[in-house]
Amino acid sequence: MERTPFYEQVKERLIRYAKIDTQSDAKSTATPTTQKQFDLARVLVDELRLIGADDVWLDEHNCVVYAKIPANQRGGRAFGLVTHMDTAPDAPGANVRPWVLEAYDGGDILLNAERGIVMSPKDFPNLLNYIGQDLILTDGTTLLGGDDKAAIASVMTFAEHLLRHPEILHGPVALAFTPDEEVGGLAKDLDLARFGAKVAYTLDGDWLGFYEDETFHASHAKVTFTGRSVHTGTAKGIMINACDLLTEWLNLLPRFEKPQYTDGREGFFHVLSVRGACEHAEAELIIRDHDRTQFEIREAYLKKCTDAINAQYGEHASLSIDETYRSMKEVVDQHPYLIEHLCAAIRKAGLEPQSLAFRGGTDGSALSWRGLPCPNLSAGYENAHGRFEYVPIPSMEKNVEILLHLCALFAQDEA
Ligand SMILES: [Zn+2]
Repeated sequence: MERTPFYEQVKERLIRYAKIDTQSDAKSTATPTTQKQFDLARVLVDELRLIGADDVWLDEHNCVVYAKIPANQRGGRAFGLVTHMDTAPDAPGANVRPWVLEAYDGGDILLNAERGIVMSPKDFPNLLNYIGQDLILTDGTTLLGGDDKAAIASVMTFAEHLLRHPEILHGPVALAFTPDEEVGGLAKDLDLARFGAKVAYTLDGDWLGFYEDETFHASHAKVTFTGRSVHTGTAKGIMINACDLLTEWLNLLPRFEKPQYTDGREGFFHVLSVRGACEHAEAELIIRDHDRTQFEIREAYLKKCTDAINAQYGEHASLSIDETYRSMKEVVDQHPYLIEHLCAAIRKAGLEPQSLAFRGGTDGSALSWRGLPCPNLSAGYENAHGRFEYVPIPSMEKNVEILLHLCALFAQDEA
């Protein structure tokens, strides 16, 4: 497969970034959840200064890196790019040893001869989409961290190209690199005033050429039951067992509206945990739906179930529901050029844009509701969060091209 002028840059960058352990930690209450995310943040700061970006700044408290590429023309609408520096806690993230397999032939890949670790297209048919391409792989003992460092490699290469080629006219571009996406950080510490741009894109997710402008609406619910415990020998007519009330409540949940029975745009309830004894029982759940009305019906349904238990047994049940994030769609739809430009840029790069309603949330879901409309463009990695993660180098090259086309489209907009 023919290499673009970006080949060496994206390859070198991803390999270098992947070797830096930036695993986040869901159990930590610190900000960022792990200090080692600063190791990559500092590398990016140095590199952004080296390639000539403006206003390069590291937030030493929150571990957010900011940079700007100033406009070199009059007019043009500003836009931003947001990528995350951490890697998932689901697989080991230290001592990552990336390597390059050139011109993949469609067969089994020996990741680790010593331990006999093989990646086969029989287990991972997505490999067959990349025959003939150069792949960056792991040694089978760690994740790669292409999620989201493949995106960082593309964004940095895009930025360097713009800064090295002043003849390419463009409006202002804002960059941010954030921590803790993998542990629900939702880019909460991204300072929108400092970031500057009024709209942005995250680059995250697998499948080159895909984008997302719709995520779940998401809430977290906790239901608790208070029982009345007495000696079991004399309990008749007196005891109220909180476990029984909880079981009854759980049985009111719709049988098939669970993650294991749903896909596409079907929503669900998911029981995260259940604990109980006679005196006290509780359960935690998450509620997910793409459709706002359906989502509200789901929340109302849990209240109804709780009221039904209370109506029958007296006030023994209570329910609390907290918002986790909201779908970005309602916000993104108010700025149609965001997706129009993105699709046009993907097409100019020779790909057919594709989109699915994302069955999760992104940092962009939260950012959109904070006032930074922020759809997502795929980073192009595969098998993320595990030891079989890999990144086809052409996917990163394509994303550099897509970003250059996107930038050209924003340059033609009114400021
Ligand atoms: Zn990610």
